[in-house]
Amino acid sequence: MHELGIVLHVIEMAEQAARKSGAEKVTELDLEVGEVSTVVPDYFRDCYNWAIQRSEIMRDCRLNLVVIEGISCCRDCGATYKTTAHGRICPHCGSGNTCLVTGRDVVVRSIRAQ
Ligand SMILES: [Zn+2]
Repeated sequence: MHELGIVLHVIEMAEQAARKSGAEKVTELDLEVGEVSTVVPDYFRDCYNWAIQRSEIMRDCRLNLVVIEGISCCRDCGATYKTTAHGRICPHCGSGNTCLVTGRDVVVRSIRAQ
């Protein structure tokens, strides 16, 4: 399960940040999940809820998932468009010469600890 690896990585980062600041508990975690990242938010949340039970620091931490819209840009006509609606083909000129601008990554936006 691919989500679990990312969950464990995110939890490790949050734990490190908490220890560094001398906090005993991480209370809230904001995580950006790209719409076209390979992470399925529901699976992610399930993995997260399981994983935090194994961590003293993270046990009561609330997870806020913020889904970031997938936006692609066309290299031929310069248009941007919603990736989930049109995939790799530009809806303006039909070109396949496009690239993803946002929505691919999983990023920790902020961590609150006490
Ligand atoms: Zn185009």
